[in-house]
Amino acid sequence: MTGPRELRCAWIAPSEDPNTRLLVPGCMERVQDWEAPCTCKTTAEEVTELEERLTELKAEPDRQEDRYHALVAAVGQHHDAAALHQQAAENFRERRRMKAAVRHENASKENPS
Ligand SMILES: [Zn+2]
Repeated sequence: MTGPRELRCAWIAPSEDPNTRLLVPGCMERVQDWEAPCTCKTTAEEVTELEERLTELKAEPDRQEDRYHALVAAVGQHHDAAALHQQAAENFRERRRMKAAVRHENASKENPS
């Protein structure tokens, strides 16, 4: 393989320890074989991946909301809908209590009085 991709990561000697070599940014192929061609992502590949990931993440709240509404609609058709809603509300309150307890515990670890 030739081209700019091969030049992407490089072994450098840090000034504070010139006998050391660091592979920057570094890919596993070159860590394992000093002479291997670089397989680091190009900047364009990273930008494309991040754009794809952002698109996925932006769609996630809509997916979760659709899932929630579909489930609520299904529960509404259930013969025991009231009990299911009551149980869900109790679960919600219990989770909220547990999360608050964890937050409280973490806060007291950070700020012991
Ligand atoms: Zn590399």
